[in-house]
Amino acid sequence: MHDLSLHNFNYWSRRILISYGIVVLFSLAAETMAWLITRKLSDGLQMDFLIDFIVIPTSIQLSFIAITFLVVKWANKTLSIYFLMLCGFVISLTLILTHPAVDGLELTLLLPMAIALIFFRMRVLVASFILSLVAYMAIYFWMPDFKDRILEFEFISYACILCAGYTIYYAVMQREIEVLSSLRRAIDTEQELRIEKTIIDKLSKTDALTGLYNHRTFQEYLDHLVDQATRYPLPIQLAIIDIDHFKSINDSYGHSIGDIILRRVAELIHDAVTVNDIVARYGGEEFAIIFTGKSLEETYQMVEDMRLAISQVQHPEMNGRVATISAGLQDYSPGLSKSELFAQADKLLYEAKREGRNRTAMQA
Ligand code: GH3
Ligand code: MG
Ligand code: MG
Repeated sequence: MHDLSLHNFNYWSRRILISYGIVVLFSLAAETMAWLITRKLSDGLQMDFLIDFIVIPTSIQLSFIAITFLVVKWANKTLSIYFLMLCGFVISLTLILTHPAVDGLELTLLLPMAIALIFFRMRVLVASFILSLVAYMAIYFWMPDFKDRILEFEFISYACILCAGYTIYYAVMQREIEVLSSLRRAIDTEQELRIEKTIIDKLSKTDALTGLYNHRTFQEYLDHLVDQATRYPLPIQLAIIDIDHFKSINDSYGHSIGDIILRRVAELIHDAVTVNDIVARYGGEEFAIIFTGKSLEETYQMVEDMRLAISQVQHPEMNGRVATISAGLQDYSPGLSKSELFAQADKLLYEAKREGRNRTAMQA
């Protein structure tokens, strides 16, 4: 199933990268202003400042954004999420390291952790927390500038805030995962219901033994097509087909063999028509076909071919005996009602029976 945590992945990755870009732009603007002021005050170009505070950190940040952009574009999604988090971490770290004198920048380490929330990734959250805490400790213990600036009390406070942030994120994530799994269950149930509905719809339209349309569906199609044919020039014909002496098949070989023969004949009828035609089991051993888009002659030829093909199939269940069909074929002409059309086709079927069976009777 579609992973909901990755829903709209490209959109969210892009948004995160754009946010990173905005952070970098803001810090660049602030640094440029600071550089301009320093330049004015000291009356020099302040190249060291320019390189240390603007060129190097901005290059690192932009390079990381570019690398993450490529990873998101080409690599798999799990790796991309780690890179999105890592990119936030690098931006935060460069901000802290470039401005050891600015209080509170340590808290930007909370931002990469938030990436995990966007994609519901517990492991990313844990990884980001460990990374942030280790980096924070490392900066404090190894960077004299930093250690001198903040009091031990402040150091512990920031560490506590990082831990508290992590704890809150962790709870939010658990809640997200809980909601996500109930959403997933709801979607699964909805999908199952939709599949069930499709199956039930199909079952209610078809006949269980032959898989052809059932009587009711046939009537619906006939209604619809006759209605269409009265309004537009749509050629339709109706054929009613009945297996000859089927009772004797049942009597001689049993009902279950009768069922097999019935199913086989249904299949042969189904295979003999086109996709534009509608075949139904009308009842018992009777079938009805609505032919559309063909001339009466073409349809007659199709029914005759079908009748001939069926009469040549030797059924092993009946020691090679054949089963034959008789058919009545009526063309629709404007002004004919649905019941008249049906009655005509039925009459023709009985004519075919009367004339000796295994034949097709067509309107004169
Ligand atoms: P005709 O050539 O005049 O049509 O003769 P027939 O024996 O086919 O006609 P009749 O109406 O006397 O018999 C139809 C038989 O079809 C009777 C019924 O038991 C059988 N039949 C109807 N539905 C089924 C079915 O689903 N399975 C089986 N095995 N037999 C069925
Ligand atoms: Mg019959
Ligand atoms: Mg019959």
